[in-house]
Amino acid sequence: MGNPMENQNNFDVVVIGAGPGGYVAAIRCAQLGLRTACADAWLDKDGKPALGGTCLNVGCIPSKALLDSSHHYAFFRHEAAAHGINSSGVTLDIHRMIERKSRIVKMLTQGIAGLFRKNKVEWLPGRGRILSVNTVEVTPAAGAQHPGPITVNTRCIIIATGSLAATIPPAPVDDELIVDSTGALEFNDVPRRLGIIGAGVIGLELGSVWNRLGSEVVILEALDEFLVPVDRQIATEAEKVLRKQGLDIRLGARVTGTGSNNREVKVTYEDQGGKQQLSVDKLIVAVGRKPNSEGLGLDRAGVRLDDRGFIEVDQHCRTSQQNIYAIGDVVRGPMLAHKAAEEGMAVAEHIAGSASAQVNYRVIPWVIYTWPEIAWVGSTARDLEQAGIAYRTGVFPFAASGRARAMGDTTGMVKMLCDQATDRILGVHIIGAYASELISEAVLAMEFDGCSEDIARTIHAHPTLTEVMHEAALGVEDRAIHI
Ligand code: FAD
Ligand code: NAD
Repeated sequence: MGNPMENQNNFDVVVIGAGPGGYVAAIRCAQLGLRTACADAWLDKDGKPALGGTCLNVGCIPSKALLDSSHHYAFFRHEAAAHGINSSGVTLDIHRMIERKSRIVKMLTQGIAGLFRKNKVEWLPGRGRILSVNTVEVTPAAGAQHPGPITVNTRCIIIATGSLAATIPPAPVDDELIVDSTGALEFNDVPRRLGIIGAGVIGLELGSVWNRLGSEVVILEALDEFLVPVDRQIATEAEKVLRKQGLDIRLGARVTGTGSNNREVKVTYEDQGGKQQLSVDKLIVAVGRKPNSEGLGLDRAGVRLDDRGFIEVDQHCRTSQQNIYAIGDVVRGPMLAHKAAEEGMAVAEHIAGSASAQVNYRVIPWVIYTWPEIAWVGSTARDLEQAGIAYRTGVFPFAASGRARAMGDTTGMVKMLCDQATDRILGVHIIGAYASELISEAVLAMEFDGCSEDIARTIHAHPTLTEVMHEAALGVEDRAIHI
């Protein structure tokens, strides 16, 4: 028998990063009988190690908590009266709202620690660095309970170090008046005038939060077109609705500089009309995210990066080194939590010997959690036209749904695009209430290579919003009933 102290630091798999990619990979590896450790450098606001990465700590979960809270507030302010509910005198307790969000984050990140214990994943709090293809050094944060660094030996390494907010030189983040998405989840007061650079997913979601809570929101977007990745019909509707809600979206606006005193930020930008200026109380920079691939020892380990800093991987998420894998935001593909998690599971299964473990990149759903929500999967009409693929379209509006009427949420539509020859579903695009939930039916249908006929022949409960999907599918063959 070998020295047990030596064995303590020997693993089958070491995962670096415990976001939705890394923690899922680690749990799945452990489920498959692999001796697994997971290193993560995240520290919470109290300086304590926390699992869950960007998604749980400063991304998906806290933003959705604030989106839901602010949605309730907006409902009482603008819509309750139509339901016969007198909500005059509704007031906002922003500290409590932020505190609720932080409690939810804590509960969920502690939940991951519980899952690690249950599955016997060894949690190594600290920054991981690859020393060789089989060794990882983990250095705990200064003042941590376990002084480091420690070196662990491993058969395989999974890199899941995620991404960081991108910055632009004219608007350096100072974490006071100019913040990134993390700072924008922590405002102590509702800014009276809020500027946002970037009308992407974060700009629209956080812009919606603060707009609903009372800020005057101006969003400066460099491109001339709104929501480029989204189907044009849906994007046009979204732009109209969001502007009506009060978001002042300025397209073709290139920020050239910012200057701040202690009270406000002056933003200068150029658009078609020439030089412009805007004064705001807070400015959020939301211009995309970049892969977090620096300082990991990748060079020494022979792991290749592409020219944008993403780790190069094959279809099994294997890097240029056979036993080193990389998943999630740090590799190509959409920067989404569910994509990272699926890659985590597939990699774990691949390491455990399954040849079939693969991610179906063709059917990854996207959701923008504005209200109404925007969700899509597959190709847009423009994608199909550019690819020369003949298609048929079924569109059905929420306004013609009994359930949407009953709820008072009649904005939007479901749009289904199907191959003209085979009827196979090629893309589904939704703007409407609970689009985030409705899109799953389309994802499942596409995963099974389904056709509009499959959804058209499926019984949908009445009255539900899913009937809008049903009618859109019927509409592909011009046989929708309620329109
Ligand atoms: P991450 O979640 O970024 O986790 C990486 C982890 O690695 C971190 O914990 C980090 O501390 C750790 N790490 C980095 N380097 C090291 C190192 N050297 N050693 C040890 N640990 C290290 N996606 C959605 O799908 N839906 C949403 O609603 C959504 N909302 C979002 C809202 C916001 C405001 C933001 C910023 C992002 C949002 N995203 C959303 C994107 C989502 O958060 C990411 O796609 C997802 O977190 C990526 O997962 P990951 O595991 O690749 O990396
Ligand atoms: P994004 O790519 O969605 O949007 C960034 C926007 O900023 C783009 O429209 C871009 O044209 C614009 N832009 C870039 N440089 C600019 C400049 N100098 N001036 C003005 N505009 C500029 O990125 P994001 O909103 O920062 O979000 C980052 C990523 O995080 C998303 O792509 C997504 O993968 C993930 N995310 C997902 C969700 C979700 O799934 N609901 C929510 C938030 C974030």
